[in-house]
Amino acid sequence: MARLKNYKIATIGSHSALQILKGAQQEGFKSIAICIKGREKPYKLFNVADEIIVIEKYPDLINLQDTLIKKNAILVPHASLMEYIGFENIEKFKVPYYGNKKILRFESDRNIEREWLKAAGLKLPKIFKNPKDIDRSVIVKFHGAKGGKGYFLAKNEKDFKQKIKAHKEEEKYVIQEYIVGVPMFIHYFYSPLTDELEIMGFDKRYESNVDSLGRISARDQMALAKVEPSYVIVGNIPVVVRESFLPRIIDMGEKVIKQSRKITPGGLWGPFCLETIMTPDEEIFTFEISARIVAGTNPYIEGSPYTWLKYNEPMSTGRRIAREIKMAIKQNKLNKVLG
Ligand code: AMP
Repeated sequence: MARLKNYKIATIGSHSALQILKGAQQEGFKSIAICIKGREKPYKLFNVADEIIVIEKYPDLINLQDTLIKKNAILVPHASLMEYIGFENIEKFKVPYYGNKKILRFESDRNIEREWLKAAGLKLPKIFKNPKDIDRSVIVKFHGAKGGKGYFLAKNEKDFKQKIKAHKEEEKYVIQEYIVGVPMFIHYFYSPLTDELEIMGFDKRYESNVDSLGRISARDQMALAKVEPSYVIVGNIPVVVRESFLPRIIDMGEKVIKQSRKITPGGLWGPFCLETIMTPDEEIFTFEISARIVAGTNPYIEGSPYTWLKYNEPMSTGRRIAREIKMAIKQNKLNKVLG
């Protein structure tokens, strides 16, 4: 254990930092929260950070690296790191980094990501390159940081052309088949130390305003001035999946891992998430992958039903990451989990 004490686990104070920092402490590490000025409060309030480093703006993290290296910190990534620092900068990081940095570029571009998932044999919603070809309901998604705002549904080319007019400033978008079903976000963890794929849990997102449109009757929606659906995420709701889906779900995760090794050395390891829609015909369509911890694991700080089955103790994804790092240190295989 003495050697563990020398390592610290650091992450940006946002997204899933509470469980990452708490998990680090549970596994015997000191934890460091790197916070934007003014955002330290949750990490103080919940007492999950042994140290809080305050920075003015996210890019300052790049200059913080020498300090982190001196502190013997291992940086755990999450979506905020990806969003605010960008994968090109992360790829150049010198500070020890949990996960495979090289996989990030594959999830940051919708086209490359699609090729990966397709090659893994997953079922994906159809993409329409040309609006002329729209022959079913589609969802039009914009790239970039708008986070689900402005997405719209269209039923044909005419409808699309009419609705896209309101988005003249948007250059990059994708026209995707709209899958009628329920969203299901699958949380996996793959350990290169045990060569095992684990199911950590499931969630569905709580999106504003689309998740409340059902509370307004169709008649009242028509009467209201303008209710456009948006998909801005405001929270996550835990879900348990019908047990008979599990064999397919495990199979999907394994195929994604196998294919990831073909696209980049070492492939994907650690936590990841397949974002799916499940249809009444029991089909599972994957519309995205997150190749790192997702905020959908946040309801499970005490563990999910699935981690309880496996571990018999509270096991959040954050704690699972810390445990993996701990196992790697003990086995002298840190190079297998840092990338
Ligand atoms: P995204 O920005 O790709 O994560 O999508 C935001 C939300 O839109 C998701 O959480 C789903 O609720 C919904 N969504 C995305 N893609 C589809 C699709 N192909 N069919 C139906 N709903 C979708």
